[in-house]
Amino acid sequence: NRKRYTAIVLAAGSGRRMQSDTPKQFMELCGHPLVYYSLYAFEKSPVDDIILVTGKDDVSYCRKEIVEACDFRKVRAVIPGGKERYLSVYEGLKAAAGTDYVLIHDGARPMIDETEIRLSMRAVEEEHACVIGVPVKDTIKIADEDGYAKLTPERSKVWQIQTPQSFSYPLVYEAYRKMLADEDSAITDDAMVVERMTNQPVKLIEGNYRNIKITTPEDMLIAEMYLKQGTSNI
Ligand code: C5P
Repeated sequence: NRKRYTAIVLAAGSGRRMQSDTPKQFMELCGHPLVYYSLYAFEKSPVDDIILVTGKDDVSYCRKEIVEACDFRKVRAVIPGGKERYLSVYEGLKAAAGTDYVLIHDGARPMIDETEIRLSMRAVEEEHACVIGVPVKDTIKIADEDGYAKLTPERSKVWQIQTPQSFSYPLVYEAYRKMLADEDSAITDDAMVVERMTNQPVKLIEGNYRNIKITTPEDMLIAEMYLKQGTSNI
């Protein structure tokens, strides 16, 4: 029988680097709050359901003004997240109990589309753990504590990691549970948790350079340009 796929869309946190009073995930982009675009993409995709994780003061706004207003029927729950991204993810994982696969996605990446979602769904069935990313275009250097170049990794092997990050549910749930018991907190993505806590290799899947994360104000202009250039999401 067919496996069940759940998207966890993250829209908690304050987005300090955005220099705005509105959390970035709700800033207006081409007439919609930013997180709308991710919800739209998953709603139209073959995933079975969506869990939206947001700030505790934004739960009812998200439910009424986004999920109900846009008739996003796959959204099964809107739940409050935590202080850090990984804590929000853990809340999302608990709410997704019973599913077979989860696709964890930053609500601050509005350019996600069905191609990357389908690629992730196909790969996670085979690989159990996979993340979308792109090979870097610039040379990357690792700095020492004093700001001098220490190492230059071979460029063809360096990837910039995006979301969705997709996993077999029991694998990622158990990895998060263990990691939280150790209170390790320098966690910036989900694959790191699986890499540290399990022996499961994480497959890198080549996505799209357009799948940017909105972090600083100029990112909004870039996303606006991409959206106007033509996707059906607007
Ligand atoms: O902070 P950063 O820009 O890396 O956030 C990436 C994603 O994680 C965003 O979509 C944001 O809403 C989400 N996040 C969260 N809970 C937090 C912090 C960030 O859901 N405490």
